[in-house]
Amino acid sequence: MTSHSEFDVIVIGSGPGGYVAAIRAAQLGLRTACIEKGNTLGGTCLNVGCIPSKALLQSTEHYEWLLKNAAEHGVQVNQPSMNFEKLMSRKEEVVKTLVDGIAGLFKKNKVEWIKGEAQFISAQEIEVKGEKTQCLKAKNFILATGSEPIPLPFLPFDEKIIVSSTGALVLPKVPKTMIVIGAGVIGVELASVYRRLGTKIQIVEMLEQITPAMDPAISKLLLQILKKQGLEFFLGAKVVEGSVNKGLAKLKVEHEGKTIELSADVILVSVGRRPYSKGLNLSAAGIEIGPKGFIPVDGAFKTTQNHIYAIGDLIDGPMLAHRASEEGVAAAEIITGMHPHVNYMSIPNVIYTHPEVAAVGMTEKEAREAGFALKVGTCLFKSNARARCAGDTEGLVKVIGEDTSGRLLGLHIIGPNASEMIGEGVIALEKKMTVEQLANASHAHPTLSESIKEAALNALGRAIHF
Ligand SMILES: Cc1cc2nc3c(=O)[nH]c(=O)nc-3n(C[C@H](O)[C@H](O)[C@H](O)COP(=O)(O)OP(=O)(O)OC[C@H]3O[C@@H](n4cnc5c(N)ncnc54)[C@H](O)[C@@H]3O)c2cc1C
Repeated sequence: MTSHSEFDVIVIGSGPGGYVAAIRAAQLGLRTACIEKGNTLGGTCLNVGCIPSKALLQSTEHYEWLLKNAAEHGVQVNQPSMNFEKLMSRKEEVVKTLVDGIAGLFKKNKVEWIKGEAQFISAQEIEVKGEKTQCLKAKNFILATGSEPIPLPFLPFDEKIIVSSTGALVLPKVPKTMIVIGAGVIGVELASVYRRLGTKIQIVEMLEQITPAMDPAISKLLLQILKKQGLEFFLGAKVVEGSVNKGLAKLKVEHEGKTIELSADVILVSVGRRPYSKGLNLSAAGIEIGPKGFIPVDGAFKTTQNHIYAIGDLIDGPMLAHRASEEGVAAAEIITGMHPHVNYMSIPNVIYTHPEVAAVGMTEKEAREAGFALKVGTCLFKSNARARCAGDTEGLVKVIGEDTSGRLLGLHIIGPNASEMIGEGVIALEKKMTVEQLANASHAHPTLSESIKEAALNALGRAIHF
């Protein structure tokens, strides 16, 4: 074992929380190291999360467009087909380019990348087991070890037939049939990928609603659209038993007072993720683990130890890459005595199905439960000229404002390019804009974002186009 270097900051984990924290700390002049136990930088998001899933979603969306929409535009293509190997290898290339990019950013910013698994020896020192074992000291630590998929107790992941999202991103061939357990964001996104490739998909969800973090009216519309696309849903359904026999997975599901049996080539279990702190030996550092495995932190991301911070999926809150990054920047700045603020109200949430769903701020239900009197306006994409030109008219925009002050409380979009349009709501919430200011701002014509203006006008009783 070698013992040397003392750092100002050691970041453990190189996901969007950790790598961003490390770069920001280095920018602020702190001697910084980032420890990563995986072979590449980027964590869940870049390696087995946001990026590979979006690469597959994008490619399969192009494919489906050729199959189903091209003819309407006069585009004639003979029998489009999907080269599954190419689809997968392109996804790998996208991932590789981005993870290599982080290594480049580390070099540029003089962040030391140390490969290996870190565990605390004391509150000031960690041991890193990699090619060699070394002890490292730091004045501050930022824990960013992320999360892992939750298995069902009676259906452990083998990543071949019973897969987590990680396995679903690297299936060797398109399965004929797939059951997805859990209709959250990851479940509906990956179900969309394989449905577009021809897999027959059944989705089993315990709640009566899909994508529960979203505005219930928007989730309901998404459900209708996904059903129309060919996904079969069992809502209010509980999986009670599961087994694998001769390459076929079987489930017993309680649904509408009956027990039904379902079977498929592959089962994707996407019932949620849990914080990951295995192997960190937190007790040696005197750090408590809270309920459900999250590390409790104060408003400045400090754990029970003043010099040890925790961010991202490891702490309670929506498990989103950009949230982790904001917290990483904030933790690094707090270490240097700055006073940053993460505005959770303006952190957007996106589902990359087609149409996409994007939201920022309060849902109508949350706002009413919080006691606000509301102005609510909607605009259907059917009435939007650009959506008509694109032939992509499903969905709507919903603007939620506080009645007396007029302040914008939330923006919800289900429709084409919702993920890009939601940025407008983020800025509006950040700047505490009113619904009227949103309605009065000029929006280029013809654009999809005119629907945001129109929904805001509708909330004020002044809609022009419907
Ligand atoms: C399929 C899927 C799709 C997703 N899509 C999106 C999306 O579109 N948008 C979005 O915002 N979010 C998405 N997410 C969520 C997003 O990936 C996470 O919120 C994000 O990665 C959390 O970042 P993090 O830095 O907290 O942790 P992680 O990205 O999980 O990184 C933690 C890192 O810590 C390392 N580590 C753990 N323990 C140790 C140790 N002891 N020593 C050294 N290293 C260690 C791990 O190897 C890992 O690399 C998706 C997730 C999945 C699974």
